[in-house]
Amino acid sequence: MTGHPAVEPAYDARTVAVRAGRGHNDTALAPVLWSSSAFVADGFDHARQLAGDTTDPKFYGRNSNPTVADFEHAMAELEGAEASRAFASGMGAVSAVVLALCSAGDHIVAQSQLYSHTQVLLQAVCPRFGIDVSFVDGTVPGAFEAAVVPQKTTLVVAESPANPKLALVDLDLLGAIKGPVTVVDSTFATPIAQRPLEYGVDLVVHSATKAIAGHNDAILGVVSGSEELIAWIRGFAILAGATASPFDALNGLRGIRTLPIRVEQQTETATAVAAMLESHPAAKAVFYPGLESHPQYELAQRQLDLPGGLIAFDLAGGLEAAAGFIDRLRLVQRATSLGGPETLVTHPVTTTHAGLLPSELAAAGIEDGTVRISCGLEHEDDLIADLTQALAPFS
Ligand SMILES: *Cc1c(COP(=O)(O)O)cnc(C)c1O
Repeated sequence: MTGHPAVEPAYDARTVAVRAGRGHNDTALAPVLWSSSAFVADGFDHARQLAGDTTDPKFYGRNSNPTVADFEHAMAELEGAEASRAFASGMGAVSAVVLALCSAGDHIVAQSQLYSHTQVLLQAVCPRFGIDVSFVDGTVPGAFEAAVVPQKTTLVVAESPANPKLALVDLDLLGAIKGPVTVVDSTFATPIAQRPLEYGVDLVVHSATKAIAGHNDAILGVVSGSEELIAWIRGFAILAGATASPFDALNGLRGIRTLPIRVEQQTETATAVAAMLESHPAAKAVFYPGLESHPQYELAQRQLDLPGGLIAFDLAGGLEAAAGFIDRLRLVQRATSLGGPETLVTHPVTTTHAGLLPSELAAAGIEDGTVRISCGLEHEDDLIADLTQALAPFS
């Protein structure tokens, strides 16, 4: 932790976001890019000491790096974690958690509503290594706990809000599970809206590619938790090599400074868009944690400080309606990410979730007419006008 004075813990997250992660800045105001892949030791003894310490940011870039370490410290502060480890992507973080903590003969409990590549990793890769996985409906209270096999389940994997329909997992119940390590993919919420560690959950994962870096110009992941668990994950991560690039970590630090105000603005816009969709005859159902009609509205009120910028909805006209709607959009762009300045639309069945079986799609609540929107930072009136004209043929 040397060189990383924590920002005063009493400060609000907005203040922490502006000031955190400057441990290797010297007198520079903005985050500093350290691109060097290796660092020079003072002498024989120093070289020996560096080789035995996996956490020193000034040794070798696959282990750590000053810019990456600054990003990790900023994330740890925002999550209220003892430590964080950054990765080359969100999937780098997810796969390191799974492969660092599970061995042949172990069992994982995961929810059926997951980011598609996390699901494929659990479903297709884990069995090759002798790791069994059970999938449960993450929205059913007690479902995770009921699937835990004593002495065998080592990991419980949750995502909340979950892809793509914003299903929520009760973090109080998840955090109360004893025995296995619990992990939440909190990408959709960001640490501004939700801090799973406060509920007793062991690890929190983010695709920082999304809202945290926030400008669609970095691929980056991070996992936060206790020093003990992160040390274990770090040890595996150094061998697996999915190390965060200092350039992407710099963009992560750049993004964190404006993360709170971006999430607030995206929430405001998404609230207006969700209300418009809910009153539109073409949308037979709208899923947004800020809407009273969300099936878990009370839980959303309890554990999300902000409902965020993502909305899903089902078009009554199915696949054809979704294709027509998406083709007619002029301002909203067809791209697969989320959480950035540009408002983006995806059609899960034919893109992000195209690899899933019909039964798996049904378990995740994904229909042919399901559309996901990530609200960006454009003016809300312009977005609503674009969405409305694209929906017009159905009115
Ligand atoms: C994008 C995403 C991931 C994967 O992150 P990458 O940075 O693309 O590897 C994992 N989980 C969620 C919820 C995501 O949205």
